[in-house]
Amino acid sequence: MTEPLDPDEYERPRPTRVGPVRVRVPAKINLHLQVGPLRQDGYHELTTVYQAIGLYDELTARPGDTLTLTMEGEGTGELPLDGSNLVIRAARALAAYTGRQPHARLHLRKHIPLAAGLAGGSADAAAALVACDVLWDTNLGRDELAHIAASVGSDVPFLVLGGTALGTGRGERVSPVLAPPHSWHWVVAIADGGLSTPEVYRELDRLREAGLPLTDAVPPEALMAALRQRDPEVLAAALANDLQDASLSLWPALVDTLEAGLDCGALAGMVSGSGPTCVFLCADSRHAMAVADELGAMNVARTVLTAAGPVAGARVC
Ligand code: ATP
Repeated sequence: MTEPLDPDEYERPRPTRVGPVRVRVPAKINLHLQVGPLRQDGYHELTTVYQAIGLYDELTARPGDTLTLTMEGEGTGELPLDGSNLVIRAARALAAYTGRQPHARLHLRKHIPLAAGLAGGSADAAAALVACDVLWDTNLGRDELAHIAASVGSDVPFLVLGGTALGTGRGERVSPVLAPPHSWHWVVAIADGGLSTPEVYRELDRLREAGLPLTDAVPPEALMAALRQRDPEVLAAALANDLQDASLSLWPALVDTLEAGLDCGALAGMVSGSGPTCVFLCADSRHAMAVADELGAMNVARTVLTAAGPVAGARVC
């Protein structure tokens, strides 16, 4: 008969991985974003279809005696690295959930621009959850990480999962969209500056109070059917974003960006999430590169790049 383990065996601190853990995490766009009325808790009821696209931040986690964050790239010197940073908030949330000290040295390499409507902050939070889960050997499954993620921010659970997914509630309840494997090709026009998401929602409320009707958005079923058909022309007709009017109202020059993308031959263009990034659907990767080249020369955006989706969520490299 096997000897039962000494109870002390169970209480030994779990080992911490010694080597660095590097996690890559994508940005998101919303293929469909339907904003319902304002809820009692101050959030709007959303129905959205997220897609993770190949534009990445990278987070490295190393063992440490305290919790620290350093960074390079987009937003360096602008983004606070204290407890208000979503990376720190996510690491602390995981530590609290698993009952351990939140000790790690975290370093962020940021390519996703700030306040761009690409959920870069939420992406970094998802990366922190995945990285610290490995560093601390807490071994939670993706569903459990997604559960903790919801307490950090509405878009964070999606960025733990990635792919293409339906988001409901305030966006934090996510379920994968089942569609045959297919890459969609996007041109991403990044604006010179950011838009505050809460301000965009407030602007939408203001516009609605002033008479803007709830948009007659194509229901997500049509969008899901378009994803299954793998036909970019069909998907182009099904894209919808209720926040677009509010973003354009706060940043009128985005109208020119959207027009310019269509003039360059994109199948469809829309503001990504709360903006000011604009995304354009193209027929294939060649088409996307041609549209990006032409749009890049038109001086309507700070940076124009191409990205394909869907891609996986936060993953250890
Ligand atoms: P969303 O699409 O989810 O509305 P966004 O792309 O418009 O987000 P983010 O870049 O995710 O905007 O960040 C919004 C705000 O969150 C920033 O202005 C910043 O104050 C705060 N923030 C906290 N931590 C981070 C982080 N690691 N990266 C970016 N922003 C962060």
